[in-house]
Amino acid sequence: MTIPLEIQQRYQQLKTELQRASYAYYVLDDPFIPDSVYDQLYRELEDLEKRYPQLITPDSPTQRVGDKISSQFFSVRHNIPLYSLENAFNLEELNKWGSRWQRYINETQDTEYVCELKIDGSALALTYENGFLVRGVTRGDGVTGEDITPNVRTIRSIPLRLNIDNPPAIVEVRGEAFLPLDTFDKINQEREEKGESLFANPRNAAAGTLRQLDPKIVDKRRLQFFAYTLHLDDNNITTQWQSLDRLETMGFLVNPHRQLCPSLQEVAQYYQDWQEKRHQLAYMTDGVVVKINDLQRQNRLGFTQKFPRWAIALKYPAEEVPTVVKDIIVNVGRTGAVTPMAVMEPVQVAGTTVQRATLHNSDRVAELDIRIGDTVIIRKAGEIIPEVVRILPELRPNHSLPFQMPTNCPECQSPLVRPVGEAVTRCVNSSCPAILRGSIVHWASRDALDIRGLGGKVVILLIEQGLVTAISDLYSLEKTEIAKLDRMGEKSALNLITAMAQSKNQSWSRVLYGLGIRYVGSVNAKILAESFRTVEELANASVTDLASVYGIGEEIAQSVYDWFKIAANRDLVAKLQAAGLQFAAAAKTTTTKATLAGKTFVISGTLPTLKREEAKELIEKAGGKVTGSVSKKTDYLVLGEAAGSKLEKALELGITQLTEAQLLELIGDFHR
Ligand code: NAD
Repeated sequence: MTIPLEIQQRYQQLKTELQRASYAYYVLDDPFIPDSVYDQLYRELEDLEKRYPQLITPDSPTQRVGDKISSQFFSVRHNIPLYSLENAFNLEELNKWGSRWQRYINETQDTEYVCELKIDGSALALTYENGFLVRGVTRGDGVTGEDITPNVRTIRSIPLRLNIDNPPAIVEVRGEAFLPLDTFDKINQEREEKGESLFANPRNAAAGTLRQLDPKIVDKRRLQFFAYTLHLDDNNITTQWQSLDRLETMGFLVNPHRQLCPSLQEVAQYYQDWQEKRHQLAYMTDGVVVKINDLQRQNRLGFTQKFPRWAIALKYPAEEVPTVVKDIIVNVGRTGAVTPMAVMEPVQVAGTTVQRATLHNSDRVAELDIRIGDTVIIRKAGEIIPEVVRILPELRPNHSLPFQMPTNCPECQSPLVRPVGEAVTRCVNSSCPAILRGSIVHWASRDALDIRGLGGKVVILLIEQGLVTAISDLYSLEKTEIAKLDRMGEKSALNLITAMAQSKNQSWSRVLYGLGIRYVGSVNAKILAESFRTVEELANASVTDLASVYGIGEEIAQSVYDWFKIAANRDLVAKLQAAGLQFAAAAKTTTTKATLAGKTFVISGTLPTLKREEAKELIEKAGGKVTGSVSKKTDYLVLGEAAGSKLEKALELGITQLTEAQLLELIGDFHR
């Protein structure tokens, strides 16, 4: 079978890139890609080798026992090799491993497992002779490591003498040396002050520290050590669980969060629990190590060339992963803004499948130099929309071309415009179907008129059929017209008509937001609707009138003013008014008591529209109090993007979280 050229090229590129990454990681302790990206590319290489075994060369990273290349220290051969661990990236892969080991030793029943946290540190092999620590060796390539005994002796949680009577001649202990997160931060701070390069993560910092030539520096860094493997001839030890207990009595620190699980089902639960809880730990973990408890079974299963068959590392979902760009398209939004988007091979990021990511604007595209066929790193932390972090230029296929922004709108073909000083390219044809589509979807959205059932697909059909050419047309639609649309029926048509009729009761501020005036988000719409009680008042306001409202800046004021100067917009307002939508505030009833009185708020992260000061002021006006840190006294945590440790604390204390919209809702209640 001939192998397609692009596969051959991809294979070569992956191999070279993984070798380069391994060198940076193991020898320089300075990785240039996250572990999750390395793991995924490694898997891709493995898959290619499975499909095309004739590609495999002895220098492939998959053909190594371990990966480390030695440096300044003396190399020593391990008495017992230190294997790596097979990886599983989800519960399905865990279960497959479960069936695999059972098949291998002809068993049909599940068994007991020990779950341990996978500490993100550096493995060490310790040798004790007659109870005394004589040697500490790094894992190295698994067969040979570096003798770093003087450094190992500085680690306080490693006993220099075992706490046992009549110690056997030889005891071997393995475990993980690691740096607690606060120490890691401190080291990086110091390095930054000295102008030195920063460690990418605690694991590299630990590995780098262990290979320091001066034990005094190692001593200062306060490494710690969790023991997890005991090699000792003792017939009383028949399980991994007993080994861990014995290590503890011998004077080692053993991770207290270990758990005995009667089957893979409990293992799955343990993994799921720790996926959340791990953020509260003082050290970094990157998964769970699952080991068959019974040592006899372990012996029967033995090892492959690279790892034990009786254990697996179950890793947490990656937040940064590589994927390949299949296409770059541009999307025209309701404001006419043209946004380039990468369409990618679907990939799992932070637990969800991602296949599109915004590239923001042409400047960002140029900065990334992203092209079709490129391998990119995608990030998605928490709820944040996926984004392309960067590309991996070494994996670029030959003959790729830089991406060119189109000069004409892909929807209406009119020339695109990029105003001087702006990053955004726009379609300025107000009858562009994309703009109309976007405006209607926005009109129907949750924070605006909240019209259930009027999503993107229905809107496209309504426009295509010529039933809607402006938002106001929605209100003259007949049930029978809607029912005729593709995949609609009598019932959904009725639901939609009802939802549209109900939208006529939505407040003036929602209507204002729904109009989609530039810079008038739901918060500004609320503020404006409070100050200008009718649309006439708003339409007749000068820029100065508008800008004198607290919270409304010059830019917003100008934008509102300009919007009402356009005849088509005034016409739209008139038609919507005639259709019965609310263009005036409901009569105000005064409340004497502030509803937020006595409530304490903490604000974390960046809120979608309000500045922190503005949010604070609104809360205080309503009688609430805003403090800087989460404690038991906190009633609400107002949560923005990139909320950090405050969220963790709030989760721990079970404090109610609010989005900006929910906060405004709460305050809105008070104003009503
Ligand atoms: P691994 O880190 O995935 O798993 C094996 C290691 O887990 C052991 O050696 C041990 O150090 C550790 N461990 C922690 N807790 C344990 C416990 N309770 N029981 C047993 N072991 C425990 O595999 P590896 O072979 O050490 O390293 C390969 C990994 O290195 C890859 O998965 C990759 O993420 C990373 N890597 C990254 C780059 C990069 O460029 N970012 C390059 C090369 C390798």
